[in-house]
Amino acid sequence: MSELHTFLFEGLPVRGVLVRLTESWQELLRRREAGGGFEEPVRRLLGEMSAATVLMQSNIKFNGAVVLQIFGDGPVKLAVTEAQPDLSFRSTAKVIGEIPSTDSGSLPLEVLVNNHGKGRCAITLDPKDRQPGQQPYQGVVSLSHVDGGLLNDLGEVLEQYMRKSEQLDAKLILAANDEIAAGLLIQRMPIEGEANLAGTDRVSTTEEELDEAYNRIATLAASLKREELLTLDAQTILHRLFWEEDLRYFEPKAGPTGPRFACTCSRERVAEMLRSLGQEEIDSIVAEQGQVEIGCDFCGEHYHFDPIDAAGLFTSEADTPPGSSSLQ
Ligand SMILES: [Zn+2]
Repeated sequence: MSELHTFLFEGLPVRGVLVRLTESWQELLRRREAGGGFEEPVRRLLGEMSAATVLMQSNIKFNGAVVLQIFGDGPVKLAVTEAQPDLSFRSTAKVIGEIPSTDSGSLPLEVLVNNHGKGRCAITLDPKDRQPGQQPYQGVVSLSHVDGGLLNDLGEVLEQYMRKSEQLDAKLILAANDEIAAGLLIQRMPIEGEANLAGTDRVSTTEEELDEAYNRIATLAASLKREELLTLDAQTILHRLFWEEDLRYFEPKAGPTGPRFACTCSRERVAEMLRSLGQEEIDSIVAEQGQVEIGCDFCGEHYHFDPIDAAGLFTSEADTPPGSSSLQ
């Protein structure tokens, strides 16, 4: 079952989240398989993006979608994952060009999305009740290290983003195969208003001691091997890494409250998109193909509009015959 575990380091301004996407991730791949699927290195990248986006969504107080996009400068032109506040997520990629073959199954970002150093990673927070004219918040980071040199690990790219946008140190370890997409996020929290410092006897903790504690925890987190993240259950991973630390666990989120695959597409949204193309364009598609057929890149759902449905797009709401949304 897909699950999300949140925990605090008792007495320290450091928190952690561990996510394991299993059947939800497999469902995402299965749906995509019907439309041709992705090559293995792209599946791994999307798996890491899915785990990372669910982690980031769970880690912020924000009522809206978290969208992670990579604008690629390589065979992968675009890779995108969206996670909703209820931890449902969806991912897709647009691949144009040859993915080099590899024995290990994965390829560095440089090869997939950053051939000439122009790849970009964007994190968008899109509020649920966005007012007309209100722009979603977007942060963009390059796929290069601040000191120069290309970043080949998505975790490091996002650590850089969090340091830049939130001024908070973080450690992010990601891994994916066809069975599971998983991630561990350790994040330092701002001291002020930090609830988990209250009620402990470490009142005299200095900034230096806190730095030291965070660095120790980050080093432990960084020692996690991808193979362990993919094969061990959450309790075993956290115990192996942090058995000397004092951890406080929160109720894990799994099942109906846990991460799951879900798509936000609908016949109505597709109809809206078709309307925006204009009647002339739609008429010419119908004349050429006898109908309009749109497939969702995220979930593989197909939406058909026969000539009557297509004509109905441009009549007023009241004139639309009932039952035209039977395919939804
Ligand atoms: Zn869909």
